[in-house]
Amino acid sequence: MIETQGLVKQFGRVRALNGLTFRVEAGTIAGLLGANGAGKTTTLSILAGRLAPGQGLARVAGLDAAGGALALGSAVGFLPETPPLYAEMRLADYLAFAARLRGVPKQETGPRVEETLAALGLADLAGRRCGGLSHGMRRRAGIAQALVHRPPVLLLDEPMAGLDPAQVVQFRQLIASLRGRHTVLLSTHQLSEAAKLCDKVVLMCKGRAVEDPRLANGSLPARHQGYTLRLTVRGDEPRLRQALAPLVSQTFDLSPHPLLPGALAVQFTAAEDLREEAARRVVEAGLGLLELGAAEEQDLEALFLELTRQEPIS
Ligand code: ATP
Repeated sequence: MIETQGLVKQFGRVRALNGLTFRVEAGTIAGLLGANGAGKTTTLSILAGRLAPGQGLARVAGLDAAGGALALGSAVGFLPETPPLYAEMRLADYLAFAARLRGVPKQETGPRVEETLAALGLADLAGRRCGGLSHGMRRRAGIAQALVHRPPVLLLDEPMAGLDPAQVVQFRQLIASLRGRHTVLLSTHQLSEAAKLCDKVVLMCKGRAVEDPRLANGSLPARHQGYTLRLTVRGDEPRLRQALAPLVSQTFDLSPHPLLPGALAVQFTAAEDLREEAARRVVEAGLGLLELGAAEEQDLEALFLELTRQEPIS
C-alpha cells in the first residue's frame, strides 16, 4: 500500500534522503522512527505528494506520489508537522470543508464530521474557531482533518506530539481501530508508543532504512520485542519456581540476590507484560514480593541507539 524504492531528496547541499527503500502492506500500522534529521518528515511529505522526490519511486495506494497531492486525491489523509488549520473557521465547518475537498458527498459530510469530532474528543469544540484552539487541540484537529474522509492511507507526522496522556490513550485506541481496514504510517520519537501501537517500524538513519539481521526487511517487529521481567522475592526457591513456571516458556534466571540476604533475584522474558500475573502468583504461593519491574523500552531504546548511532560531531 505504501512503497518507496531508492528515494533520494537533496536540499541544496543536504541529502535528506539517500536511497530510501521500504514497504508497508495494506492494513498495517507502521511507525517511522529515527533521530532528528533522519528524514522522516521529508519521507512523509513526499508520500503525501507535497514534496517532489529527487530520484526514486514513491507509491501510495498504487498511485505515484510524484504526481502531487491532487493526483493522490482522497487516497491519502495527511497530518503535516504543523496542522493545516484556517484560524477564522469554526472547527466543524473546517472539517466539513476538508471532507468536501476530498470528495465526501454533501449528504454524508455532517455525520462524518460528527463521528470524527467524537472519535478525537473534540465534540465540545465543534463551534470554536480554529485560531483559538490550544496546541494539543490543534494537533487533534489536524488528525481529524486527515481522517475525516476515511482515506485508505493515513500519513501522520508526529501525531502524538503535544497530546496529553488521556489523549495519547484515546489516539492509540483510535489508530488501533483502523488496523486491517486502513494503512497507517506515522512518525514518532516515542519508542514505547511505537512498540505498543505499530505492527512494524521502519528505522531511518541518514535518509536510509536501517538494515540489520535483527530487522526483517528493514523493519523491526516492535510488538514482538518481549518484556524482561525482574523480580526480587523472599522465600523458598522450589516454591518460587513452581509459582512462576506457567508464565515462563524458555530461559529462567534465578539466583540469590547479590545485595539482599535471603532474597532471590528472578529474571525472564515473556511476550507480554506479565507483571500483574507474576505478582499474583508469588503472593498466592505465600512468598514475599520485594521488587517487581518490566524492562521493555530499555531493550528497544538500546537497539534504536545502536542502529541509528550518529557520527560524533567533530
Ligand atoms: P525531526 O525528527 O527533527 O523532525 P526528520 O527525521 O523529520 O527530523 P527531516 O525534517 O526530514 O528530518 O530533515 C532531514 C534533513 O533534511 C535535515 O538535515 C534537514 O535539515 C534537511 N531539510 C529538511 N527540509 C529542508 C528544507 N526545506 N530545506 C533545507 N534542508 C531541509
